[in-house]
Amino acid sequence: MHIPGIHHITAISGAPQVNHDFYTKLLGLRLVKKTVNFDDPQTWHLYYGDETGNPGTLLTFFPFENAAEGKAGSGMASRIGFAVPGDSFSWWVNRIAESVERFDPPSERFGAPVITFVDPDGLLLEIMPLPGAEDLPGWAHGDIPNEHSIRCFSNATLLLDDGAETAKLLEVMGYEPLEKDGVFQRFAVSGTGTASDESPPPSPTVPAPFIDLHIQKTTIGRMGRGTVHHVAFRAENEEEQRQWREALLQAGLRPTEVVDRQYFKSIYFHEPGGVLFELATDPPGMLIDEDRESLGTGLQLPPWFEENRHWIEDRLPELRTR
Ligand code: ZN
Repeated sequence: MHIPGIHHITAISGAPQVNHDFYTKLLGLRLVKKTVNFDDPQTWHLYYGDETGNPGTLLTFFPFENAAEGKAGSGMASRIGFAVPGDSFSWWVNRIAESVERFDPPSERFGAPVITFVDPDGLLLEIMPLPGAEDLPGWAHGDIPNEHSIRCFSNATLLLDDGAETAKLLEVMGYEPLEKDGVFQRFAVSGTGTASDESPPPSPTVPAPFIDLHIQKTTIGRMGRGTVHHVAFRAENEEEQRQWREALLQAGLRPTEVVDRQYFKSIYFHEPGGVLFELATDPPGMLIDEDRESLGTGLQLPPWFEENRHWIEDRLPELRTR
């Protein structure tokens, strides 16, 4: 049993319109779901992803108009990496240089180029080529030519004082340690690694294959605008999720009971370094309440909020989408 990759990543942003415009227009992701924060239905929960919102492509935000500024620190995910086809990397470097205020010139990590930049709320993002990315769908009808579109996550980076216990957990989850590069250590979904000559080459059918540990003594972070709230991993179905929950309990962790998130079933737990992890099922997915063509166009509420639809609609901040 091994985790097949990242399912989604959830972060906190400021104004929803700014967030929407950056991720759909500048980065060309598809808004695949407009729903509300199930724990606070007066605020949006926006999901961006590929054409059908496949696991491994989903970046979700809780936008709070007046959210206090956050700061990534020890025990938080500090960077989100997007994968593009190798031939598209230089196209993206130009786009970032032209349209993003804060970015670093491209550098190299793990033998591949990467460009690091900052979203309007201060969240660190990265774009890097991923072998096989060109075979994944992306979003053909967004603001980016489909050949260059972002295909999925490449990785999430966890900022930790000491990664030893986190590394052990990732191995329990089926991740394979790859090489180190300075302060970074990379872990790959089983079977996608390049740890040894015997490992098969990276599979084009596995999106979001890497977790990177960034080992550095830092102060404790502060959750807020521009920070990652949690990283969710995939469970292929509820039975597998149940087995993982048992395995996590046996490993001394404290996963929650299963929570219904409408588009997936979830359990949550803190990994030993402090980062909030989630394990989310692939089914039922984003197509449960909208068809492929209309994904992300209407306000979708779970059944238990439907009777309060008008109350909720009146209180949600304005958001203009297409
Ligand atoms: Zn989540």
